[in-house]
Amino acid sequence: MSGSRRGDHPPGGGLHSATAHDPGPVAARRAPENSPVRTCVGCRTRSQADDLLRVVAEHGALVPDPRRRFPGRGAWLHPDPECLHRAERRSAFPRALRVPGPLDTTAVRAHLAGAGAVTGARDTPGSVIEESKVDPS
Ligand SMILES: [Zn+2]
Repeated sequence: MSGSRRGDHPPGGGLHSATAHDPGPVAARRAPENSPVRTCVGCRTRSQADDLLRVVAEHGALVPDPRRRFPGRGAWLHPDPECLHRAERRSAFPRALRVPGPLDTTAVRAHLAGAGAVTGARDTPGSVIEESKVDPS
C-alpha cells in the first residue's frame, strides 16, 4: 500500500521561484569615482578616461596608447574620427603634447578605423557617405 513514490517526475512548481532572482540589469556599470575624467582634445568635452583614447607623441608621430602604458605626456581623444579631425585642424596635439610642429596622425587614424568602426556613431552629420547597397535577395 502506498509504497509507490510519485517521484517519477519532479513537481514542476518550485522551479519558477527558485530562479526568479536575476542578477538584474547592469546598473552598476559606471563607476565615475573610479575613473578619472579627461578632456578630449578634439571636441573639448570632458569624459571618463575609460571612454577616451590616450595618444602620445613619438618621433614626430602620434601613437595610440590604448593601454596607457607609454610614459610621458599624453593627450586624450574620443575614439572618433570626428574628434581626431577637429584636433588636427586646431593642431591640438602638438600643443597638448608640448612638441614642436605637426604630428603624423596616421597611426591614430588607422587605430580608429580598426577599432572605432563599432562605435555606432551613425548620427554624425556631414560624413554620411556610406550607404549599404546590399540587396536582400
Ligand atoms: Zn571628442
